[in-house]
Amino acid sequence: MADNCIFCRIIKGEIPSSKVYEDENVVAFKDINPAAPVHVLVVPKQHIESLEALSDENIQAVVPVHKAIRKVAEITGIAEQGYRVIVNCGAGAGQTVMHLHYHVLGGVNMGEKIL
Ligand code: AMP
Ligand code: ZN
Repeated sequence: MADNCIFCRIIKGEIPSSKVYEDENVVAFKDINPAAPVHVLVVPKQHIESLEALSDENIQAVVPVHKAIRKVAEITGIAEQGYRVIVNCGAGAGQTVMHLHYHVLGGVNMGEKIL
């Protein structure tokens, strides 16, 4: 946990959020500034700054996140239609909150592929 981290504070319940899913390892809540009809952030409870901060010691934190992404897709009704998962890694990629999080976007035709 990092005291000045907004997502750690959401995990601790110090800042309100619109939770979609939670288990012992992961929390998923609606993005406050949604870019699609469904825009959920899936976050490991362990404070890991970014994909670049993953190591042999903490890589196991990612497995429950991937399981939770599929649960979130099911809960929000976008699993069948399809959805996009984005991880911004580093300030140069647009990462503004330095606590690893996966954007799950869907509920609309996601438009042209960029990759
Ligand atoms: P990123 O730019 O990849 O770091 O994404 C950070 C995301 O967190 C942005 O899409 C913000 O809209 C979202 N965000 C920031 N603060 C909150 C909050 N308190 N509750 C929900 N989402 C938030
Ligand atoms: Zn954090």
